[in-house]
Amino acid sequence: MPADAAPGPGDPRDPAGDGGATGEVDGAGRAGAGAGLRTGPALRAVGARPSLRDEAIATLQAAIVAGELRPGVLYSAPTLAAQLGMSATPVREAMLDLVKEGLVETVRNKGFRVVELSDAELDELTALRLLVEVPTVADVARRGVSRVEAAELRQLADRIDTAAAAQDLIALNRADLEFHSRLLALAGNRALVELVRTLRTRSRLYGQARLADAGALHPTAHEHAEIVDLVAAGDADGAAELMRRHIGHVRGAWATGRPGEQQRQSGD
Ligand SMILES: [Zn+2]
Repeated sequence: MPADAAPGPGDPRDPAGDGGATGEVDGAGRAGAGAGLRTGPALRAVGARPSLRDEAIATLQAAIVAGELRPGVLYSAPTLAAQLGMSATPVREAMLDLVKEGLVETVRNKGFRVVELSDAELDELTALRLLVEVPTVADVARRGVSRVEAAELRQLADRIDTAAAAQDLIALNRADLEFHSRLLALAGNRALVELVRTLRTRSRLYGQARLADAGALHPTAHEHAEIVDLVAAGDADGAAELMRRHIGHVRGAWATGRPGEQQRQSGD
């Protein structure tokens, strides 16, 4: 009978007390270490078309990648819902989906905690991204893309640049995920796209916040626009090479917060 894990339904504001104990990411406390959410409208007003739950999932995934939600902090669905400007139910459902994906774990009767990822695990995800994305982008460039496809990719690349300029890390990671998915989808292998989406949502790019503060998100962000140009020009080698460097920058600069940092190369 103890309603396990998630706080029971129907207690959205949780006066019982544990709400106060949960890690509030915004609100008065804004604990020094960059715990404040860096967000544009995405986090505040998610109420749009796609199901609220899907929207919550995408936002929470991006927040986890960017480190806006961190391991070691306890989050309750009501707390997160308040940040998202949503009701607690879709947020709780979204968090339970993320539990199934292994991104989040439930803490009995208290809420949720983000699962930790080691540097070695991040290296493994990066290695897989290189294996999959580099040859695939070359394939796409070789086959050629239509003007409509190129225009769609450019629009996503613009969204990434805009989010980087606005220092909106949630929007940045959402657009980045869409860009890579859309580009790879042009190769026609849906399983491959799903794999890369999983690798992306499992990643942790905690250096982005520091780069945002330094106004240094742009170089890596703008590589997307350059990749589109190479793909549209049919330059398979150039696109593959830039994709390799891009994924290296993501593992380096975006994960560590040190501009110019490349992935540590083990061979080659
Ligand atoms: Zn990217």
